[in-house]
Amino acid sequence: MAIEIAPSPLQILKSEWLEKQGIALYIKRDDLLHPQVQGNKWRKLKYNLIQAQEEGHDTLITFGGPFSNHIYATAAAAKVLGLKCIGVIRGDKELPLTPTLQFAVKHGMQLHFADRAEYKTKDSVEYLNSLTGQYGEYYYIPGGGTNLLALTGVSEIIDELHGDFDYLCTGCGTGGTIAGLVAGLKGRAQVLGFSALKGNDTLTPYVTQLITEYCDEEYNNFSINFNYHFGGYAKIVPQLIDFIQKFKEVYGVQLEPVYTGKMMYGIFDLIEQGYFKKGSNIIALHTGGLQGLSGYPDYFPEFESGLPD
Ligand SMILES: *Cc1c(COP(=O)(O)O)cnc(C)c1O
Repeated sequence: MAIEIAPSPLQILKSEWLEKQGIALYIKRDDLLHPQVQGNKWRKLKYNLIQAQEEGHDTLITFGGPFSNHIYATAAAAKVLGLKCIGVIRGDKELPLTPTLQFAVKHGMQLHFADRAEYKTKDSVEYLNSLTGQYGEYYYIPGGGTNLLALTGVSEIIDELHGDFDYLCTGCGTGGTIAGLVAGLKGRAQVLGFSALKGNDTLTPYVTQLITEYCDEEYNNFSINFNYHFGGYAKIVPQLIDFIQKFKEVYGVQLEPVYTGKMMYGIFDLIEQGYFKKGSNIIALHTGGLQGLSGYPDYFPEFESGLPD
């Protein structure tokens, strides 16, 4: 079965404030790529799924937390392709399942809960072999979906961006997305990553290494900013929630607090600080992840039971 991704729209964000700053800010709407398999997780899965099929696998195994965008996307994609899928989930089983895990189960994913000690060993050869013992032969997709095939899928975003721009911005977790963007740009423009995790100085060398393994080039037209993690992964700060709500009111685009909200907050703050020259063209990548809003029912009640069908 062919896996096609139609290009996502590129929209300009308009406000008096942006006009006054002399900045043209665009948003690449990868949140609209697919109703369920949103954003960068779909891009990262694409060539892994093709590879799994080419190698004749009928089972995928992957890893993630109980609110993981990657678990959600993998379950939906496996269902579309008719593949079996096992999700190794961090932590003990808790009922009721999170909306993310309910969605995964509904799409046929079999859940394997791994306590913290087990989950820590998840990338070791011994552990991966033990999964073969339990589930048979399978195609391995690492947690977060980052591997070299993920970079191929992400780099296709660049083919969809026509015209000149000075900066391309993305949220960063494992670093696969920023690596794919830099690889696709082949030295053009400047790529700014915004880390969702607290000061993680192993990320930049890791991204450099991924890019080199992928295309045998060393590009240094990228940097990762660690100033907008808001206390760390998936932490909730009122200032960030306010920003996401105001952004929705002014620009009509929904963000979420784990990745895209932090990135956009960072971009706005850098604009305010005069980091970008007047006249700069900036593209912000909306990497999706809106299903994760189900984890914050107090702030985003309309997403309490997941994405609307
Ligand atoms: C996973 C994810 C990211 C981070 O991507 P990496 O390739 O892990 O750096 C950014 N945004 C969203 C919405 C995500 O789900």
